[in-house]
Amino acid sequence: MAVKIAVNFGTKNIKASGARFRPDLKSAVYLIAALVFAADAFLIRVKQPFPLTVTALLYAVFFICAALLEKYYSPEEKRAHNRLLLGLWIIYLTLCAFSGGGDSPLKWAVIIMPLMAAVRRDKTAWLIMSAATPAAFAYGFSGASADEILVYPAALFFSIILYFFVPGAGAREKKGAAYLARIRTQKEGEHFSRVIYGLLESLLKLYHSVLKPVSIILFLKNAENSAEFSMAISVSSAEKEINKGYSFGLQDGLLGAALNKNVFFTFDTKGAQMPYYNSKVPVLSAAVMPVVLDRLTGAIVVDFDRDIGPEKEGVGEKLAKLADETVSVMEINDINYKVISREQRVSLMYEINKKMNMLDGKSALIKSFLEEVRQFDIYSGYIAEYDSAENCFTVTDCVNYPVSAVSTKFSAGEDRFLRYMMDTGKSMLVDDVGKKDIPLNFKRLNIDKSFISLLKSSDTVYGFIKLDKEKPNSFSAFELETLELLLSRITVMLENAGLYEKIKNQAYHDGLTGLLNHLTFQQKLLTSVEKKEKGEIPAISLCIMDIDFFKKFNDSFGHQEGDRVLVKIAGMLSDFEKRTPGSYCARYGGEEFVFVLEGHDIYSAANIAEQIRKFSTTHLKGGNEKEMRPINLSIGVTSYPDFAKDARELFKNADEALYLAKEEGRNAVRTTMDVRKIDRRKR
Ligand code: GH3
Ligand code: MG
Ligand code: MG
Repeated sequence: MAVKIAVNFGTKNIKASGARFRPDLKSAVYLIAALVFAADAFLIRVKQPFPLTVTALLYAVFFICAALLEKYYSPEEKRAHNRLLLGLWIIYLTLCAFSGGGDSPLKWAVIIMPLMAAVRRDKTAWLIMSAATPAAFAYGFSGASADEILVYPAALFFSIILYFFVPGAGAREKKGAAYLARIRTQKEGEHFSRVIYGLLESLLKLYHSVLKPVSIILFLKNAENSAEFSMAISVSSAEKEINKGYSFGLQDGLLGAALNKNVFFTFDTKGAQMPYYNSKVPVLSAAVMPVVLDRLTGAIVVDFDRDIGPEKEGVGEKLAKLADETVSVMEINDINYKVISREQRVSLMYEINKKMNMLDGKSALIKSFLEEVRQFDIYSGYIAEYDSAENCFTVTDCVNYPVSAVSTKFSAGEDRFLRYMMDTGKSMLVDDVGKKDIPLNFKRLNIDKSFISLLKSSDTVYGFIKLDKEKPNSFSAFELETLELLLSRITVMLENAGLYEKIKNQAYHDGLTGLLNHLTFQQKLLTSVEKKEKGEIPAISLCIMDIDFFKKFNDSFGHQEGDRVLVKIAGMLSDFEKRTPGSYCARYGGEEFVFVLEGHDIYSAANIAEQIRKFSTTHLKGGNEKEMRPINLSIGVTSYPDFAKDARELFKNADEALYLAKEEGRNAVRTTMDVRKIDRRKR
């Protein structure tokens, strides 16, 4: 699972803190005011140089204000500070304009302030000040010397340098809301992460007062995939010496080595300087406690100006508690994040629903589901469908498994995991999957934990799903709950999909034989005719077949046995259909069937019809114990376009040929050619 409190530094951090330039009404008012003052200075040309004492006083006031603004600056109140800085600037801009513009002794105050804005990356203030300054200076510059003229471009240049290139500029933003910038849901998220930050800080303060160390510092992993830990919060009696931007990797020095052990660890510093101090702070021993939220997420580093050898155990215990409490605070943050992503999840579920409505079927649904759950840092997974007739599961879709896994079968009776789930209906969380020889795991060694669950409604098992995590990830209680929730939803959807497939089947197929029904067949034949018209196939042949003396058969052996015969014929026709490319069959009516051959001419079709007739009369039988009768078919064959000019004539002519077959003694195949020969003879 992802660590949701992650520390971001550098430009990313700045972005996440929302330092985007959003011109608003107030900024516009300030800008206009500044321009009006500047214009004043230029047009009215009031030049009132102040006496030296007044100038000095004005500078003193300026520097005190600037210092206060610096001291109480915090990124949370950035907008208010922006305005204060702009206000101060406007006052000095006016004073500057009235005392000679470019010649004014106060011009330095006006030039310094854009630099202040640049340092704290207040883009709004910075842009307004930089843009309006030359206007204020315009009057004085008309008669100014070269060095005075260069003041503005030089100041602008410096502020650009400060804004973009000076590392650590605006660094104090890290300590604010932006610190826990993982939650990016605007206001609420920011508010929430500030609360989390405050909780963590007060926790550290509490432990600082109990353990009485020099410093107690919480380091957090920079980003989900990085091995770098950056200082998040520090509470220290040497606060001034702490390098707030310090970070270290798992490979770096004592801290990295200690953290690598992933257990509580203390060491003698032997008077060496701890790396996160700017200068030497007397420290004799230090302790490192890993913070584990599913995986290594951070570290609590504590250093002491005493030897903690004798109190090591007590310190370990207390730090373990602190780590636990830190984790629970971070978990709150995590859950908050998850709640947000749950909303996204709901919309994804909606997407899945929509796909269902598009009737793409089960497979698309399952694919969406697998994709969906990958949000949980799932490394791999698959879905297997259940076949109740064989009591086995067949893998149908997988993510990050070899393609060969698909269509692997697992017997529900033989596999112990499947047997357990079938017996209890419970889902399972299996540890150390890679190390154990579990057939369900396909010998994948890198998998550490698997979540396996049946997809089942009250009475039907649809299949099972297996989701895997790699080391060191694991399934949190929250994730498991959510997964169960999603699975119950998916089961309902599978149930619906099953029902839909059934209904669809009923609409297109004949209930008794399972062959296409009359209506579907007619539509299909029209498509075949279109294919011929487009030139995709050269011809279509149609065979209509009717069972001989079926009424008598029913009378002798009963309607039910008659039905069984119909099913046998359907089976035979399906076999022929499979063997003959471009063919399809249907139950045309009561005991009549049709067989269509795309791309076959009348000779080829008559040949196949003859094979069907022969097969039926030699292999298909019906009756009772006393008597088994062969099933004889009469078949009429015709072909489009040679022997029929449209679909309607195709039926009419095939029917005529069938009639001829019946007339000439049944159990026979006749074609339109035979019909035409007879017609000619009659004439
Ligand atoms: P012919 O050789 O001339 O075809 O004689 P026939 O008795 O087969 O005559 P016809 O084709 O007119 O007979 C239709 C009979 O088929 C009537 C009915 O008893 C039987 N039949 C129709 N549909 C079904 C069905 O769904 N099940 C069963 N068991 N019999 C059916
Ligand atoms: Mg009939
Ligand atoms: Mg018949």
